[in-house]
Amino acid sequence: SVFSKVPQGPPAILGITEAFKADSNPKKINLGVGAYRDDAGKPYVLPSVKTAEQQVLDASLNKEYAGITGVSDFTKAAALLAYGPDSTPLKEDRIAITQSISGTGALRIGGAFLERFFPNDKTIYIPTPSWANHKAVFSDSGLKVEQYRYYNKETIGLDFDGMVEDIKKMPKGSMVLLHACAHNPTGVDPTEEQWRAISDAMKEGEHFPFFDMAYQGFASGDTNKDAFALRHFIKEGHLVCLAQSFAKNMGLYGERVGAFSVVCASPEEKKRVDSQIKIIVRPLYSNPPVHGARIASAILNDSLLNGQWLGEVKGMADRIIKMRALLKENLKKSGSKRDWSHITNQIGMFAYTGLDAKQMETLAKEHSVYATKDGRISVAGITTDNVGRLAEAMHKVAG
Ligand code: PMP
Repeated sequence: SVFSKVPQGPPAILGITEAFKADSNPKKINLGVGAYRDDAGKPYVLPSVKTAEQQVLDASLNKEYAGITGVSDFTKAAALLAYGPDSTPLKEDRIAITQSISGTGALRIGGAFLERFFPNDKTIYIPTPSWANHKAVFSDSGLKVEQYRYYNKETIGLDFDGMVEDIKKMPKGSMVLLHACAHNPTGVDPTEEQWRAISDAMKEGEHFPFFDMAYQGFASGDTNKDAFALRHFIKEGHLVCLAQSFAKNMGLYGERVGAFSVVCASPEEKKRVDSQIKIIVRPLYSNPPVHGARIASAILNDSLLNGQWLGEVKGMADRIIKMRALLKENLKKSGSKRDWSHITNQIGMFAYTGLDAKQMETLAKEHSVYATKDGRISVAGITTDNVGRLAEAMHKVAG
């Protein structure tokens, strides 16, 4: 056939879910998925989302196309959530924003925009390690992808000196991808003081930051606190790009709600950038889906619902923080003499356990605990019910 030469691709990350499903152990634990689970291990639809969705249905809106850049009530509110009410570029009307197919789509539009218009070398630097999809998204956008040091295996923490050193070594005016908060996969974030130093180093090199913010509110439970890095950079005068996702903080995973924005130097520049974003989006998918954006818009634009949502975000973040503490406590109880403080120092949905690929394999084969080979576990998959068993298994495997 015409496709007889198409080679077989490698199994994707979803292989974990398949192995988990095939395991007959009733006490099996799946810590591979990047989605929030409640304490019963079930997917969670936020009550604020349910109310907002009902409002959208009751409004009985038509199903006409949105504009190329999406539902404008949504994008306005999304920008406000990220940049904050005191944001100077927002007040000065110099932020171009478009709705996107969640965070991935925002990164992809950003990649295409930078490939077309970034005036310097078209290489983007991403951290080592980074979300597995970053490299593919940016390469497919036509950018070259290089890496900077980020994670220190020895301390299971941030390699701050290595990171700053690498930023200083980049050619003047380079593009740098930064995880705004809750770094995936490590859960290791710079402190506010370190962010200040990173901003200084970026400025010195005249580098251009592209923030990926997939977890605003999900990390600390506070949407303002989680936006610190982005807002600090802007206060310092950086012009930036931003990819936002509402998959995690609103639990709208499959609705694909996100936004891509560019902080410009002037309202006039914003207009030009906006026109080019439209030219990029139009042949990609014409215009984005409306339903999820209407739900997010209802939540962000209604002060009562907004308050309720912020409480629910905090509820999710708090449960994750609690599970981290419980896991550490249970590891100690199981007799482990190892220092597991990184489990509680890290932040967001994932914990980097420090276990290697072989240990992760043993964890799956002998203990029916499934997660990625890099030692990353989804803390969202831990419950008060399974944490004891998980800790014992981790202790046995880690020694
Ligand atoms: N960036 C990072 C760092 C992520 O972890 C994710 C979700 N796994 C995304 C972007 C995008 O996810 P989505 O397309 O579902 O919004």
